[in-house]
Amino acid sequence: MGYGLWVRRKKHMLSIYKTIFSKKSQLNSNTYLYHFNLFEPKEIIFKPGQYIILKVPLEKGYISRLYSISSSNTEKNSFELIVETVLGGLGSGYLSSLKEGVEVNFQGPAGMFELKKNERDKIFMVTGTGIAPIRSMINSKFEIRNSKFSLFWGLKNYKDVYLLNELKGYKLKVASFDFKICLSREQNLDMIPEEDKKYFFLGHIDSCFEKLFTNHYSLITVNEFYLCGGRNIVESLKQFLLSKNVPKENIIFEKF
Ligand SMILES: Cc1cc2nc3c(=O)[nH]c(=O)nc-3n(C[C@H](O)[C@H](O)[C@H](O)COP(=O)(O)OP(=O)(O)OC[C@H]3O[C@@H](n4cnc5c(N)ncnc54)[C@H](O)[C@@H]3O)c2cc1C
Repeated sequence: MGYGLWVRRKKHMLSIYKTIFSKKSQLNSNTYLYHFNLFEPKEIIFKPGQYIILKVPLEKGYISRLYSISSSNTEKNSFELIVETVLGGLGSGYLSSLKEGVEVNFQGPAGMFELKKNERDKIFMVTGTGIAPIRSMINSKFEIRNSKFSLFWGLKNYKDVYLLNELKGYKLKVASFDFKICLSREQNLDMIPEEDKKYFFLGHIDSCFEKLFTNHYSLITVNEFYLCGGRNIVESLKQFLLSKNVPKENIIFEKF
């Protein structure tokens, strides 16, 4: 079967989800958490890491935009998205203009970015809204025993940081989870409260990782890496890991 035909059949198989947009919370200057309640069907079954296709109504027809589900799959009657509003963006602009109570339609769920069920340690390397599918995974995932979960999350500035309390909460609850937020555009970490400094690193994700794992390079070849974020960053992180002899099959990624 040709790829085009396969994609058309696959799209055809995806379910339509009618939802009501119920609320949004501002996470930073241009990123929002959107909450949708399902009304037809009333439930969604998805694997943490999968995305959903937003139908953006136009004057004639609609266009589609893909967004990773950021909530736990244990919540079946609603779901959340973390979306950055892009200047002049059709999908993100449509979302940011929504009024509470309106109907919003999606198709899905879809995608292969999901946690492998094995006992390898899992290392998440994400930038910006690439945190969305990881939030779903860590909220849903802790049935995988004996694996350690380390998150390296790249943001530009301290003012861009969100979900800090949520991440601190997971860390308290789950001993096998740890995280570092890597700030690439700050000069220093002086603005961060003393008790939170341990969660931050000054620089990019790869340098943070190098620093923490310098003495454990023999170990990283058995870990699994989950990369998510902008296309170019994911590609360069992938090349970085390959250069450290991480096997290709242990690098799982989603490019936005
Ligand atoms: C599998 C998958 C999952 C995704 N999940 C998420 C998610 O969870 N959260 C999320 O926010 N996005 C996610 N995206 C990206 C999302 O699908 C859209 O591409 C993004 O929201 C921009 O769409 P738009 O319609 O608003 O902008 P468009 O109308 O497509 O673009 C408008 C203009 O902005 C430019 N532009 C587009 N994106 C950016 C950007 N990020 N920064 C600067 N300029 C840009 C374009 O080049 C264009 O000139 C995902 C993408 C994929 C493939």
